[in-house]
Amino acid sequence: MLYVSTRGGCPAKTFDEVILTGLAADGGLFVPQTIPHFAVEDIASWAGDSYQELAFKVMHPFVGGCIPDEDLVELIRRAYGNFRHEAIAPLVQTGHNEWILELFHGPTLAFKDFALQFLGHLLDYSLEKRDQKVVIMGATSGDTGSAAIEGCRRCSNVDMFILHPHQRVSDVQRRQMTTVMADNIHNIALQGTFDDCQNMVKACFSDQSFLPDNRQLVAVNSINWARIMAQIVYYFWASLQLGGPLRPISFAVPTGNFGDIFAGYLASKMGLPIEQLVIATNQNDILHRCISFNDHTTQPLQQSLAPSMDIMISSNFERLLFDVHGGDGAAIVGLMADAKGGHMQLSAGVLETLRKQFSSYRCDDKEMLAAIADVYANSGYLLDPHTAIGLNAARSQRANLKTPMVTLATAHPAKFPDAVKEAGYPSDPPLPAHMSGLFARPERFCVLENRRSVVEQFMAQKINVKPV
Ligand SMILES: *Cc1c(COP(=O)(O)O)cnc(C)c1O
Repeated sequence: MLYVSTRGGCPAKTFDEVILTGLAADGGLFVPQTIPHFAVEDIASWAGDSYQELAFKVMHPFVGGCIPDEDLVELIRRAYGNFRHEAIAPLVQTGHNEWILELFHGPTLAFKDFALQFLGHLLDYSLEKRDQKVVIMGATSGDTGSAAIEGCRRCSNVDMFILHPHQRVSDVQRRQMTTVMADNIHNIALQGTFDDCQNMVKACFSDQSFLPDNRQLVAVNSINWARIMAQIVYYFWASLQLGGPLRPISFAVPTGNFGDIFAGYLASKMGLPIEQLVIATNQNDILHRCISFNDHTTQPLQQSLAPSMDIMISSNFERLLFDVHGGDGAAIVGLMADAKGGHMQLSAGVLETLRKQFSSYRCDDKEMLAAIADVYANSGYLLDPHTAIGLNAARSQRANLKTPMVTLATAHPAKFPDAVKEAGYPSDPPLPAHMSGLFARPERFCVLENRRSVVEQFMAQKINVKPV
């Protein structure tokens, strides 16, 4: 399997090459040259598989000969070995034909563990094989950083730098990152906002001359293809638990960077019968406006109680647009220039194609808090703010009550105690046992000025160049 850029301006690459980089050289994102397709009978024959068995079958075609089968099996075994629920991604029923897919049983309590636990082991494996060392650099508003650190803390071929906005992430989120005492993990608290962190990372990727010889930067945000790939699995999984693929299933997905729901779109392209994919946004609703009103106009970012969805331009939307434009890189170059300029409009034909699969809904903080309170009162189930936005969208957009509607639960409510209490829950939702010592552990991080030379100097100093 080869991978091409969504902007059509660079040569195709192998799986190995694609996971060890960031954006393509032309500024695009890597996507598989062809999307694998499974027959319904094949998918049906996977009923009863464990999560890990299913993960192998779904991801195998993408890896395309880069990893021997027995090694892929082992990587998957390790990736999901420290999830704290035997089912890995259990389903919970909250209403008639209405389900929550709990994706928060990994080590850092958010769905990002599904991809980043796997990516950590995958990078370690690939780098070992190639006898190569890399530097991971990423910005986080909370969940990505901790999941990435947890996934890569044992990778001896990786030095990792995670930038978070100083004093702007929650205590739980910060401590999940800063209490990991591995020599290759470096937390930078940047004096600025999340956007400043992201811009810093972008600037460093664009000129990597500050790195020691033979090192390159690797991205761990959802522009990294391996993350999308690992997330396709749980759409198949949920469907198979609920009578799929012989009946269609619908999904509602709390959406930020469009990585998670794009994985659902790929599952559908791969042959899984999916009736509806509901894009759930908070008040940062550009994707909702785009799908529902063909209005992709940027507006100032608003801080919400679902911070992991506070995103202005969703990078993975480009991957979807590339697909619905039939792989026309030149068209994407034009659209992305429009989007960057503040306003992008889709053609009537493209919009019609998108609306066959996607619907969308916007849920602001007030409606989200009401949803947490309502679901808790009526089914005793406590939602985190992101999942509440998803479930609210699911209920509003549901076209067919006979089709199971699955909302992806992207985080554990204990990660967002303030929002949950604002919704009327009487106390801090308890952290799971493995994290109960979090507030007693020592922290380590560096506060750095928001200046490129400062960050680059810090990194160059900390990168381990000693032979092991
Ligand atoms: C990252 C995140 C999201 C958004 O996922 P995307 O793949 O960026 O759309 C939603 N909820 C939570 C809790 C997250 O951490």
